[in-house]
Amino acid sequence: MKVLIKNAEIYQNGKIEKQDLYIERKRIAKIAKELNLKADKVIDAAGCVVFPGFIDLHAHLRDPGQTYKEDIVTGTLSAAKGGFTAVCAMPNTQPVTDNIASVEYIQLRAKEHGFARVYVIGALTKGSMGEEISEMATMKSGGIVAVSDDGKCVQNARLMLSCLRYAANFDIPVIIHPEDYALAGKGQINSGKVSTQTGLPGISSLAEEVIIARDIMLAESAGARLHIAHISTAAALELVQAAKQKGLPITCEVTPHHLVLTEDACLGFDTNTKMKPPLRTEADRKACVEALKSGLIDCIATDHAPHADFEKEREFDLAPFGIIGFETAFSVLYDELVLPGILPLNTLVDSLSIRAAKVLDLPGGEIRPGAVADINIIDLNAKTYFDKDSILSKSKNSPWLERAFQAKVRYTLVGGNINYQDTP
Ligand SMILES: [Zn+2]
Repeated sequence: MKVLIKNAEIYQNGKIEKQDLYIERKRIAKIAKELNLKADKVIDAAGCVVFPGFIDLHAHLRDPGQTYKEDIVTGTLSAAKGGFTAVCAMPNTQPVTDNIASVEYIQLRAKEHGFARVYVIGALTKGSMGEEISEMATMKSGGIVAVSDDGKCVQNARLMLSCLRYAANFDIPVIIHPEDYALAGKGQINSGKVSTQTGLPGISSLAEEVIIARDIMLAESAGARLHIAHISTAAALELVQAAKQKGLPITCEVTPHHLVLTEDACLGFDTNTKMKPPLRTEADRKACVEALKSGLIDCIATDHAPHADFEKEREFDLAPFGIIGFETAFSVLYDELVLPGILPLNTLVDSLSIRAAKVLDLPGGEIRPGAVADINIIDLNAKTYFDKDSILSKSKNSPWLERAFQAKVRYTLVGGNINYQDTP
């Protein structure tokens, strides 16, 4: 299919310029002013910007096993609505993605029915039980892009060292969900002012920082690539900074919610403010924003974690941790950080695209002739209103329900195919 995008502003190398863009054989064939080529489809993108398709390193698609929360079809449609053209699926499905058959199931479903590309992350340990190393080499031959026990954290340092050594042998990046169980205890929200005010048990920031410190040391010893999921505290960032200054191959991501919300959001006992790691202090949030700007934080990842209403709509301490994130990521960050001048637009876009791609050596993430035609087209002047009816994910657990944010995704194209469209 040949697609001609007319009258758009094109985001290329950090700059926005008025040009036309032509797609042929799934790739960006030409970018130039006033292109008049024959096409099967012409998109008039006046007033919109064409960005590289967003790449999410951290998503829970819940398929197989928990498809009442989400499945590969609804999950990738929700992703496409948010401008994402590729997502990495975490392995905490039922059964856990710890073998090649499970990897192939996800790849096949996504290829046949998905609205975005899906890269599979395999489990770090068998069943993510934290007891035995998984068959990660076999899964790598099947195409996994990383290993992780996300949602869980290997508590045994000796086993973690073995996992990192094994992963290093096969050059597989290891993604950690840093949480020391003894320190986190039965905590519900960040340990601090708001946990005292609400009486909810707190999770010390040390629970995150202790494991990050441990795993940086273990990864250095093993010579492994370590990616830290959803970093959330100022002290954790100092650990990463020291590791990067040493030249270690350590990367990290931050979620949209840790960039704009703080523990204060938990004052109303809304279970959609309950996630791991918990929303932290204003000082932590600001440190994350600064670290994203400086490049200390490599990229933004949503940690899209769907849960059904019946699971979230209950007492705070009984509700599961996590929120959905695909559909709100860009507009919430654009509205709350870019428009007020806190974050440059190119930092936001690059953190969602090229900077994410680089962490796991994924293709895509930039607009240039010859690149695969994974792009989105966003109207920065339109508003997106989020409510349960408009959300395409099967789950509606978002802290931003009934809110409107600036910026609306009009199209998402994956390999030149229009996989999502919302035009007036
Ligand atoms: Zn996690």
